[in-house]
Amino acid sequence: MTKFVYDFAEGNRDLKDLLGGKGANLAEMTNIGLPVPPGFTITTEACQEYLANGHEPASLQQEIDEHLAALEAQMGKKLGDAADPLLVSVRSGAKFSMPGMMDTVLNIGLTDESVIGLGDNRFAWDSYRRLIQMFGKTVCGVPGEDFEHALEELKRIRSTEDDLDLDAADLKKLVGTFKDIFREHTKQDFPQDPRQQLADAIHAVFDSWNSDRAVLYRRQERIPADLGTAVNICSMVFGNLGSDSGTGVAFTRDPGSGVRGVYGDYLVNAQGEDVVAGIRNTVPLQDLQQIDKNSYDQLMDIMTTLENHYRDLCDIEFTIERGKLWMLQTRVGKRTAAAAFVIATQLVDEGMIDLDEALQRVTGAQLAMLMFPRFDGSTNAERLGKGMNASPGAAVGKAVFDSYTAVKWSRSGEKVILVRRETNPDDLNGMIAAEGILTSRGGKTSHAAVVARGMGKTCVCGAEELDVDTKRRRLVAPNGVVIEEGDVISIDGSSGVVYKGSVPVVPSPVVEYFEGNVDLSDDLVRAVDRLMKHADDARRLGVRSNADTPEDAERARRFGAQGIGLCRTEHMFLGERRQHVERLILADGDTERAEALETLLPLQRDDFVGIFAAMDGLPVTVRLLDPPLHEFLPDITELSVRVALAEARGEKHENDLRLLQAVHKLHEQNPMLGLRGVRLGLVIPGLFTMQVRAIAEAAAHRIKSGGDPKVEIMIPLVGAVQELEAVRTDAERVLREVAEETGVVVDALIGTMIELPRAALTAGQIAEAAQFFSFGTNDLTQTVWGFSRDDVEAAFFSAYLEKGIFGVSPFETLDRDGVGRLIRIAVAEGRAARPGLKLGVCGEHGGDPDSVHFFHEVGLDYVSCSPFRVPVARLEAGRAAT
Ligand code: ADP
Ligand code: MG
Ligand code: MG
Repeated sequence: MTKFVYDFAEGNRDLKDLLGGKGANLAEMTNIGLPVPPGFTITTEACQEYLANGHEPASLQQEIDEHLAALEAQMGKKLGDAADPLLVSVRSGAKFSMPGMMDTVLNIGLTDESVIGLGDNRFAWDSYRRLIQMFGKTVCGVPGEDFEHALEELKRIRSTEDDLDLDAADLKKLVGTFKDIFREHTKQDFPQDPRQQLADAIHAVFDSWNSDRAVLYRRQERIPADLGTAVNICSMVFGNLGSDSGTGVAFTRDPGSGVRGVYGDYLVNAQGEDVVAGIRNTVPLQDLQQIDKNSYDQLMDIMTTLENHYRDLCDIEFTIERGKLWMLQTRVGKRTAAAAFVIATQLVDEGMIDLDEALQRVTGAQLAMLMFPRFDGSTNAERLGKGMNASPGAAVGKAVFDSYTAVKWSRSGEKVILVRRETNPDDLNGMIAAEGILTSRGGKTSHAAVVARGMGKTCVCGAEELDVDTKRRRLVAPNGVVIEEGDVISIDGSSGVVYKGSVPVVPSPVVEYFEGNVDLSDDLVRAVDRLMKHADDARRLGVRSNADTPEDAERARRFGAQGIGLCRTEHMFLGERRQHVERLILADGDTERAEALETLLPLQRDDFVGIFAAMDGLPVTVRLLDPPLHEFLPDITELSVRVALAEARGEKHENDLRLLQAVHKLHEQNPMLGLRGVRLGLVIPGLFTMQVRAIAEAAAHRIKSGGDPKVEIMIPLVGAVQELEAVRTDAERVLREVAEETGVVVDALIGTMIELPRAALTAGQIAEAAQFFSFGTNDLTQTVWGFSRDDVEAAFFSAYLEKGIFGVSPFETLDRDGVGRLIRIAVAEGRAARPGLKLGVCGEHGGDPDSVHFFHEVGLDYVSCSPFRVPVARLEAGRAAT
């Protein structure tokens, strides 16, 4: 029979699938001898069965009974006992941490009777009102504001702002009010049976797995929807017993910068929820040293133990009950991208991990985040105030004061900054929509800070000097400046500073580093340097760049590209050269066409000379012309108007008329599937041979001037080997001619893109005629899925993502099952037909972290991506190989 319940002492940290992250780590802490209040965990499997069948698995109740009995025996108290009640918390905890997404209920077991047994004092009534409030809100769906308003009202009557000024009688009265609110909404009395409270809370945690907030968060974070959550039943310890009690959260290192030290927040005389919710102002953890030195010292020891044990930054939740420290949670903590790099190398220096492991601790996505520009430090923009640097980045946008407006405005294309006193899970939509988040309350562990860091969004939190008035939709700075909704502000997530207006941005130090301006005095730059070098040593996969100009090629080279994997030639037909292309398209007969090509030849040759020079000694893959010709002609409507106007005025318009006819002739229903790529080369005489000649002459010129061009000529959109053979025969002829004319032999490889399903499926045949393949994964994705990218992304991709049809757009991360399968076939059959066939990929997937791992696995030789993605691909290729 499946075991559905584990005592904390039975589990360990490797059982996250089964016990959830929180449960597995509570078990781990219990087993390494840390002070964890006893309890047990109901597995994710129980949750999965409950959600699938609509009821608990048959044997669950009995297992819970047994574990509860054992817990009661251990604690010497019975759940909800009238004289001396055992109280427990019921806590959700999925495999992946989902901050604030799921629901937790504290003080289960309190009833009208047991509240007397607990003490009938301020503490007892405070605990009871919290139970009714949390149970009402999370288990029974009573609007949280109703409770909050009643509490506010009571405080108003008592003329205080602080919960702590309410005495036992006040709180007893509040319990009465809360019970009324509960009854009003649920048409039932607050349950007086502790076991019913427990059962209802467990079911509520199970159900919360499918709450809107949880579903949204999972989608955002790409967490699978079928994992389910575990439920932890943990005996209560009390931080709200007086001034010798309290609760707090801490990090073993700064999750913002990675620097070692004491980071955390502490709140005297409070229960856990109060800290995270940012309801009262916390004190810095350092202050605990004065408040309770014993507990402080013990906490520091425990943090060291945890770091050594987990060999990583940990975050923790703890509570002190009358001078006794209890650990309530730990996990390997979330951190900013910069901290990830710094901490990984620190841990290497401290001998805790090796460089291979350090490389696994950072990601290409984090590196990409570090390459974002930052605010110009020398700005003289007006400073509104400063908060905590909760999540880095530079965000500029219009201030909005609620999530609804954030979503609405961002949908209409505005950049917005979500400004709140504090955020809660209901703000998630707005946080996703915003460029950045600014709050006036809460520390680095507040909801806003934690969630923003997780999303990689810029966040400044706890900017207390700013008076945020969400009702009047404005914020007032200490100097009296008022920011109304819609006014532009800039927030700096790295320094915590908030500015009025739009502040200019400068490149990040990491980009400066890649550009060659290496400043090793910067912790972050030093960490990036070490890990990039290690990744380069480790990786098997080559990294090239897509570049069409000498400037791009040079930058790509600085960023570590080992060649150009895709040099598009279409831009070489634009701008002033359009007129020649028009002439080519309108050419009446061979002579006119030859003349047009003749004028294009030297222009193209010069382009190639520049690119070959920039990439001297490294391979350059030049793709012959790919897009449909009408892209080079004037817009059909514009041209029709011009012709009509000329006709009306009786002016001469012969050329426009010819153009218009050509445009009509070239007009296609589905240009993406029309006359383009190799098809152009085959139907427009001389076009591809002109391009090949320009390439060959440029290479010959470079060789004569002492250069070392490594040329690869690539034919796009091939579907049949016959297409490639025809183009190749012509190309080889031109190469021979140029060799004879110049006296220099250019060893150009001739290969093809694999971007049509037929090409992938007949790769064995195509490889007979191709010296290399480059997978064009953009077109391959379009043709495999039957998606026209430009049409589908705007039309229905958000709906597809929302419905979970895909977790991520197949244009962003390669679809391994479909597109990937074709790639595997083409790799295997291509290499079988031509051993040593060179294989690469160009297309945006070449710089996508997950896709890079796939390309490593299937054994490609290189990936090619845009210059800014080159470092990301290098890092991920290194990670894939270690
Ligand atoms: P979350 O995942 O939202 O942090 P938790 O289950 O960790 O939810 O609990 C919410 C708060 O209640 C935390 O501050 C936690 O430390 C506190 N808490 C949970 N269980 C107990 C307990 N048994 N005794 C005291 N405080 C608790
Ligand atoms: Mg917690
Ligand atoms: Mg293509």
